[in-house]
This record gives sequence, structure tokens and C-alpha cells, in this order.
Amino acid sequence: MPRVADDLVQPFQIEPFALRGRLVRLGPAIDTILTRHAYPEPVAIMLGEAITLAVALAGALKYDGIFTLQTKGDGPIKLMVADVTTAGAIRGYAQFDAARLAAATSAGAPVPRLLGAGYLALTVDQGEHTDRYQGIVELQGGTLAECVHHYFRQSEQVEAALKVAVARIPDHDDVPRWRAGALMIQRLPRESFTQEREDEDEAWRRAAIFMSSSTSAELVDRDLVPEALLFRLFHEDGVRAHAPHALAARCRCSRQRVETMLRALQPEDLDDMKVDGKVVVTCEFCSTVYPFDADALGALLVSS
Ligand SMILES: [Zn+2]
Repeated sequence: MPRVADDLVQPFQIEPFALRGRLVRLGPAIDTILTRHAYPEPVAIMLGEAITLAVALAGALKYDGIFTLQTKGDGPIKLMVADVTTAGAIRGYAQFDAARLAAATSAGAPVPRLLGAGYLALTVDQGEHTDRYQGIVELQGGTLAECVHHYFRQSEQVEAALKVAVARIPDHDDVPRWRAGALMIQRLPRESFTQEREDEDEAWRRAAIFMSSSTSAELVDRDLVPEALLFRLFHEDGVRAHAPHALAARCRCSRQRVETMLRALQPEDLDDMKVDGKVVVTCEFCSTVYPFDADALGALLVSS
């Protein structure tokens, strides 16, 4: 069986009111990230959702740079960072307390149980000399998708509906691999109440219902062509798929960036990092190790 296109975000619009949406499909890219980290399954699923939602949300914005979704809470998963660049590079990591995670019950909604009380932050970074946009909202909802939905309700600038799924399922070679998928539709709220507006409201409600009828299995189905899923869900009102954008697991860390970070540290903080006179920095996103021996550290400080 030929492979269906994977690792992409597929923008689409639903006629007749041109409601905008995006379908995210992640195969090898999300498997690379989650397998590399080898987190316990609840952490892997939560981070997978964070990365997939970040891709869906980034597509809602016109920006050139880096979009970041971050959560911080007092639960077993203390921190999650997921980011996506305009070029389609995705990455993410989580920090968690293994003992508290093991002690957490398996009953109840995942966000209160695993993330606890805290916040969700969305950031757009378009590089130096530009304003960073940041939106923050309390973690409110049973799932991460509900927390993002809460964010949209608070922001009042965009109305959105979204759905996400992450699963580890057997590939064609029977090896279990991570997959993820998301659907999101959005529209700008309007203030006027005209007949057209009422018709659009009705179209919006229908689209949200059609979208929610999609199953998690469909969202992570490796053999389902993206256009086929969109047609299955929205054909009654008419749906048009636009050109997809490719996604890939790629980290932006480099030795040069680590050097810049080390140079910016206070000498005593740099000393605190030393073990046997050496400093070893490990990238939290991709686990690449950057070692600096005494000579390298000396050269670093001389050149600063
Ligand atoms: Zn890295």
C-alpha cells in the first residue's frame, strides 16, 4: 500500500461562508520527538498534544518566526514547551516529577491530574527588534484542547473549535509508533446581527458539530488521506483543501547558541555548573550534548 502523505498541516475552508480550518497530521516527526525523549506514556501523550495543538494554532496566525505553546503547573508535569517555526520545524520537551507521576491516580481528567493548577502561554517571537506577543490564560479544562478553547473564549478575538488525538499504534511493519492529529476551525466574531450573520452562525455550528463527529482513530489513521477525512466530515456544506505545509522534527540548538548563553551567565553561576572543571550543557529539546572543557571555557570568556 502506498504511503499517505504525512507530517503536514492542511489548511481548508468550508463553504459557503469560507470558514477557515486546519487539519494536522503527524507521523514520523512526532514519533521521532516522543521516542527520543522516552517519557512515561501519560507525559508523552500530553506533550504530543501540546506539539500538535501548537501546529494547529500557529496556522491561525500570520507571523514569521517561532510560535511557542507552554504550560506551567503544580502537578506531576511541571513544564511543557512546544514550538513550531514558520518553516515547519517542530520540537518539544516536558519536565516532570517521576515519583509524583507514579503516585498520580489514573482516574479523572488529564489536565487537573497531570498539569495541576497553573497557566498556558502562547508566544510569537519574530526575532530581535520586534515585539513579542504573549497571551496567558489559567489552565482551565479537563484536556489541553479545552484549555486552549478557554484561551479563545477569554481573548474574544477569534472563535475556535478544536480537537486533538495522540496514540502509539502499530505501523505497517507492526512496530508501534507515535502518531498525532488535530482539527481546528476558526472565525472572527462579528458584532452586527444581520440575516447573513444568522446564516453564518448556523454554518459555524454545523461545522463544529461535523468536526466533533470525527473520531480519535480517524485523526491518527495513517492510511486516511487528509482530503478524504475533510470530505467525510464537511461534504454537506462543501469543503476545499488548500496546499499543505510540510512539518519536520528539527531542533534549532547549536554550539554557538550555547556559547552565547554561557557568556551571558554571571561568573559564579558558570562556576556552579562546573563538574571537575568542565561544563556540559544538554539541549532539553533534542538531548544533544555540548561539552566545554577548561580550555573551551577559557576561550569562551576571552572572546566575549
Ligand atoms: Zn536541541
